[in-house]
Amino acid sequence: MKAAVFSSTHTAPQSFLHVEDVPPPQLEAGHVLLRVVACGVCRTDLHIVEGDLPPLRPSLIPGHQIVGEVIGGATQELPLGTRVGVSWMGGVDGDCWYCHHGMENLCDKPVFTGYTVDGGYAEYVLARADFTFPLPPGLDDAHVAPLLCAGIIGFRSLRVAGVEKGERVGLFGFGSSASLAIAILQSWKCEVYVVTRGESHRKLATSLGATWVGKEDEKPAVMLDRAITFAPSGKVVVSALASLRKGGVVAINAIHLDHVPAFDYDTLLWGERQIRSVANMTRQDANDFLKIANDLRIRPNVTEFALDDANIRASLRPSQQPATCQGWIARCKGIETLRLFANPSNARCRVVGFLRVTGWKQCKIGKICTHVVGSPTSLNAYISSTCLFCSINNNVWRRGRDSNPRYPCEYV
Ligand SMILES: [Zn+2]
Ligand SMILES: [Zn+2]
Repeated sequence: MKAAVFSSTHTAPQSFLHVEDVPPPQLEAGHVLLRVVACGVCRTDLHIVEGDLPPLRPSLIPGHQIVGEVIGGATQELPLGTRVGVSWMGGVDGDCWYCHHGMENLCDKPVFTGYTVDGGYAEYVLARADFTFPLPPGLDDAHVAPLLCAGIIGFRSLRVAGVEKGERVGLFGFGSSASLAIAILQSWKCEVYVVTRGESHRKLATSLGATWVGKEDEKPAVMLDRAITFAPSGKVVVSALASLRKGGVVAINAIHLDHVPAFDYDTLLWGERQIRSVANMTRQDANDFLKIANDLRIRPNVTEFALDDANIRASLRPSQQPATCQGWIARCKGIETLRLFANPSNARCRVVGFLRVTGWKQCKIGKICTHVVGSPTSLNAYISSTCLFCSINNNVWRRGRDSNPRYPCEYV
């Protein structure tokens, strides 16, 4: 079968994924064999292929927002031809303390689709039958795929934050997960306050009917009952706390977070305010969310491309999308974290992350680099010397936990 394969020993810039012929998966007990009809691209897939998450196998087929059709291993609940979804949680041991206490999302021996086992960037995939979800008919293949991780995790975030109907809820950062969650909040008659730095994200939040929308340094005029942070920034968590009423909860929906700045306990956390993280999802979350998404006709914006074009890096390369994808140096001063992010108006370009640099001398806030290559989250991003701004700093374009660049910049 055809599959996009990630090799953890890759060294060349173009080798994030290779589309090649591989043996199809063999049916195993307790599993179903699926013909993949669509698979979403999640930020976590990029974390995997860019090395932010440690490789667990030498070769892997990523992808964990899978829409497939049962073609083998059918059961009474999953007859042949059933259209099902597969998400990030591909299985649990069912035997650890967490599984016995209704917290399978925290299982000690989890299976992660497209990470510990092969995922959906392929023509066929094997999935545990008890971790597949029959999909409601009202959602077509391409539009249901992003719901299978971004949607479910966003929904879980609302649960972790303890959102109740009619409450005032803050969404800090407004990417795909938040833009799916807002529809649920509106159906619960919640007031939604969105704080986000990207202008296009603010416009999107406004168009989706947010009660109030502000920039990252703005604060809602009212105290919030709940807040969910989607930006991978510790500073944003403190901003969310500062808007929270006594007894309120901040839920952090981010698999990675940079440094959380010191904050004043007396004014920001005292009063039984809580900070919680959101990790993975349960099958209950998935089933509940898919039902709600179907009822509300939640329909994300999607960009479709063929498996042959699955090289994620290619889809991110600014040089191939000069008009829509730019790295923006948002903050740099002395020795600290440089924040880079891609143009949020390009849905396929989610280069959001951090590059730790040293020795910046002439940086100015807000300069644009038009040739960011690679992912800043991997701490292996490269900034082109062909960019005027970068060329004055090109002695510092590469620092991080991995000082041996795996993906040399072709522009430097
Ligand atoms: Zn995901
Ligand atoms: Zn377990």
